[in-house]
Amino acid sequence: MADRVPPPGLVPRPAAATSSVIRDALALAGRPDVLSFAGGMPASELLDTEGLRASYDHVLSHDPRAALQYSVTDGDPLLRELIAARSTLRGLETDPGELLITTGAQQALMLLATVLLRPGDTVAVEEPTYLAALQCFAYTGARVVPVPADDEGIDVDALAHVVARDRPKLVYLVPNFQNPTGRTLALERRRAVARLAETAGFWIAEDDPYGELRFRGAELPWIRNQTGARDRSVLLGSLSKIVAPGLRLGWISAPPALLRACVLAKQAMDLHSSTVDQAAAAHYLGSHDIDARLRDGRVLYRERCEAMLSELPDALPAGSSWSRPDGGMFLWVRLPEGYDTAALLPRAVDHGVSYVPGAPFFAGPPDASTLRLSFAGHAPPDTVEGMRRLGKALA
Ligand code: PMP
Repeated sequence: MADRVPPPGLVPRPAAATSSVIRDALALAGRPDVLSFAGGMPASELLDTEGLRASYDHVLSHDPRAALQYSVTDGDPLLRELIAARSTLRGLETDPGELLITTGAQQALMLLATVLLRPGDTVAVEEPTYLAALQCFAYTGARVVPVPADDEGIDVDALAHVVARDRPKLVYLVPNFQNPTGRTLALERRRAVARLAETAGFWIAEDDPYGELRFRGAELPWIRNQTGARDRSVLLGSLSKIVAPGLRLGWISAPPALLRACVLAKQAMDLHSSTVDQAAAAHYLGSHDIDARLRDGRVLYRERCEAMLSELPDALPAGSSWSRPDGGMFLWVRLPEGYDTAALLPRAVDHGVSYVPGAPFFAGPPDASTLRLSFAGHAPPDTVEGMRRLGKALA
């Protein structure tokens, strides 16, 4: 019998960003006795199960054949209209024709990476940043250059230096209540990034899934709305944090040529996002007062954030620092030097609490003493208990 020849190997890709230690520990963190502050899930109390069921009922009883058919790549026309109207109301004049509906903002990121980046191209990101964006960029073989950031977001002088040195094609930013740090990009810096894009010629990807979850302070305008940014910026949005992540619906708002390229890439990837989910989401947005629900959501998140903030001084070792978000779902902790939050995670899980170690969020050398906590998922009594457990685990 002839020797067996193995099938061809996989394309080498950069290793998954999270180490196996973290993955194993987070798998254990799913145990019912563990209070998890790790996941980026919206509060389950905020999911409108009745309202969404009614919308699915509606589309499946009124026009079921359309809801179950193939449809256009750009997205459900009514959904695009409603999202465009919502963006316009929030200060960014948007035409439905500027929008592509995507399977979550995550797909929007991968589409952008696909149409903009070749191996060796440079992407600049604020440090630390959303780890699944780093994964998208890594898939293309692009070089990711970290730019330092502080409580007000990316350091614009440092960005100007990176732009002059590395000529990035794309600058990726999460302007509001960033994942993982919870920080918000200051207005002056939004303007400065737009000016820099204009003079240096790069694309800005403004990823804003959390913008409508502000519970403190005044809303800030998008970068895409700043002078000079319109023809070189892309705004990514999502229904995940304002309606439900299981819908897997997001969008890109982009200039025509870039949008067309994304539409073609999406066509190759999945033809279109689920027809029935888009139709139900459009019905839901058109028939429910989601602003009233968002108002309740902001109150809930503020309460939960404050509960966590008030426990941290007792829970964390002396010398720790943490962010004070104005919205969103996350806060970011830096323990004193010498602590390694990835190494400590199994111990935390043994104590019945979990978090995400900070390292995978770094594009450059990681700060091992950092971690991300989500305050969204637990009512204050559980947060108090969780932070007590965290304190014991870190003691
Ligand atoms: N961008 C950021 C910054 C996120 O935090 C997330 C989700 N956690 C996404 C994009 C992806 O969101 P979606 O559910 O819309 O795919």
